[in-house]
Amino acid sequence: MQRIVIKVGSHVLTQDGTIAKIRMLALVQLIAELKAHKYEVILVSSGAVAAGYTLLPLDRGSVANKQALAAIGQPLLLKMYQEKFAKFGLLCSQVLLSADVFDAGEHIKHAKVAIDTLLENNVVPIINENDTVSVEELVFGDNDRLSAHVAHHFDAKMLVILSDIDAFYDKDPNKYDDAKRRDIVTQITKDELEATHTPNNEFATGGIVTKLQSADFLMKHKKEMFLASGFHLDDVKAFLVDGKHVGGTLFKTN
Ligand code: ADP
Repeated sequence: MQRIVIKVGSHVLTQDGTIAKIRMLALVQLIAELKAHKYEVILVSSGAVAAGYTLLPLDRGSVANKQALAAIGQPLLLKMYQEKFAKFGLLCSQVLLSADVFDAGEHIKHAKVAIDTLLENNVVPIINENDTVSVEELVFGDNDRLSAHVAHHFDAKMLVILSDIDAFYDKDPNKYDDAKRRDIVTQITKDELEATHTPNNEFATGGIVTKLQSADFLMKHKKEMFLASGFHLDDVKAFLVDGKHVGGTLFKTN
């Protein structure tokens, strides 16, 4: 068995302010297929705030309201996942983590025991940041770095990020028509990693910087990261099931 972490971003999971049910079902189907092959899958899922908003449309401008929306939406999100996994005869589970868990050795050891036990029992752990006690995700915007830590600390071989973009390009493909897809990346430059601090830099848009930081962290720990589209799952399926690298970007050390 190969243990992998799949992270799905809120852009993929939501559409017009609600949860994109068809895309969620496609993701769950992919996980079921991967489990039938040689994979143990841990899912890191965003989408709690969007799910909460469908029940109570609070203004998402304040951190307090986002925390409240996450608290409202998280059980709904899990309910939706539970229904979809049930279609494939699978159980899923909720594991909420905060960033400080990774700093304190004891906590993370306990969490790993729980994750191992869930996986041994064929249950899919669905991890999210516990937004009501840690505001980091709401402030920094994504689960990218959380999922990199999850992959490292829970001994996964690889992190798969399913994004609204289908790969890492030499420049932002949403701005430049001539942007070229990078197939394999073995090194990330300091400029690329620090691009958040220079707003005019082409890398600073969207959430690509946190993805590069996650890839860099994992490469330093001798692990791989695959970035692919969460809208069309053909590339990730080809890569993980058929061993064919058609689209997407693989980050790995030489
Ligand atoms: P998600 O929430 O789906 O995980 P984000 O929207 O946060 O993803 O980040 C992906 C976005 O990053 C892309 O839509 C793209 O506009 C932007 N981006 C900026 N530079 C690049 C680049 N070099 N390669 C790919 N995407 C880039």
